[in-house]
Amino acid sequence: MNILILGGGGREHSLAWATLQNPKCDKLIVAPGNAGIEQIAECASLDIEDPGAVAEFAGEHAIDMVIVGPEAPLAAGVADRLREAGILVFGPSAAAARLEASKSFTKEICAAVDAPTAGYGHFTDAEAAKAHIHAQGAPIVVKADGLAAGKGVIIAETINDACAAVDDMFGGAFGGAGAEVVIEEFMTGEEASFFVLVDGDICLPIGTAQDHKRIGEGDTGPNTGGMGAYSPAPVLTDDIAQKALDEIVRPTMAEMVKRGMPYQGVLYVGLMIENGQPRLVEYNVRFGDPECQVLMLRLGAQALDLMHACAEGRLAEAQVTWADDHAMTVVMAAEGYPGDYAKGAVIGGLDGLPEDSFQMMFHAGTKSEAGKVLTNGGRVLNATARGATLQEARDRAYAMVDAVDWPQNVHRRDIGWRALG
Ligand code: ATP
Repeated sequence: MNILILGGGGREHSLAWATLQNPKCDKLIVAPGNAGIEQIAECASLDIEDPGAVAEFAGEHAIDMVIVGPEAPLAAGVADRLREAGILVFGPSAAAARLEASKSFTKEICAAVDAPTAGYGHFTDAEAAKAHIHAQGAPIVVKADGLAAGKGVIIAETINDACAAVDDMFGGAFGGAGAEVVIEEFMTGEEASFFVLVDGDICLPIGTAQDHKRIGEGDTGPNTGGMGAYSPAPVLTDDIAQKALDEIVRPTMAEMVKRGMPYQGVLYVGLMIENGQPRLVEYNVRFGDPECQVLMLRLGAQALDLMHACAEGRLAEAQVTWADDHAMTVVMAAEGYPGDYAKGAVIGGLDGLPEDSFQMMFHAGTKSEAGKVLTNGGRVLNATARGATLQEARDRAYAMVDAVDWPQNVHRRDIGWRALG
């Protein structure tokens, strides 16, 4: 099978690595890729948010299946165009990708099937939004409706802060994403991510994980794209996962089928868990980054079989074989991230790292120049390891972090603190 993966972060490096573990992969191209992906696959430059360009490229390179990493190409309709061209694709249609691209759409789908989630209001003008905030009180959560790269969510401690966030959003702080605003009840509990492959109303859970959103140790400081993750997430017990499937995932996916927009691909189910009850925080229409890295290391070669079965409509027959293992990934970021940061620092020490099915240094924002690996983004490297226990996975991951020669990097030393105690 010839495979094209779209994206160039740590998520896509781990997808590429897992794909190459499977002998069914004859040829792999990744667009655009990064310095790490370049070492294992052919990288191509391509506008991955242009459906026509992606379909043409896939046709020219005899691609049998496209795996879409990030959400933007999905929201732009890349999967639709590929399906029209008769090319298998792992990723939902633009209509189904609204589960991530529009928060009010997801809230409305949840309301239609009574799926447990935060109470909400949906507003297109500031005055009505503020009246709702005054009626509800604080803390309260103000969200730009559209895609805002994780920055369009304000957890407001006071009514004044919430009203100021509303003014910012309607004032254009998040561009078109903030033209509509969703205001949610503030939920308490512990967050975890649940990953489910979906084809219409067939749902196959493929793992759980917990991310670390804040830049600082002890979960302090500003939000980031994610500073580390581990899998499985102990808080998401089998019982709670089953509840999440029965009360949230299956009813909402059935509702999508009923509305003529069946979902196909991986569904990232962000949950808030309190007193044994899961509630939906959000859906994402792709693997999380860095959660994907730990899932791929744990799934290995079968990841491709699962994605292929999903894309071909054979999910009902598919099965996941789990090893009783644990994985952790530690994100190494550029100094200054998630604010301004410099690019172009030389990273040394990568060549000597042991890389096998127990430990992989997945690259995110890197590029190669004159035989050197340079930083090229905010989140740069993902030291990812697996072991019989989470402690073993952690020790391996941090040994990789410590072997890297890049003094200006920033990383957290406490990834896994919730699970390790
Ligand atoms: P990201 O891309 O970072 O996942 P997003 O823009 O899709 O973010 P959400 O996932 O909806 O936004 O919210 C981001 C974070 O804000 C959540 O992971 C959660 O920690 C917090 N959050 C969101 N909604 C609520 C809520 N109703 N109650 C409490 N916390 C919430």
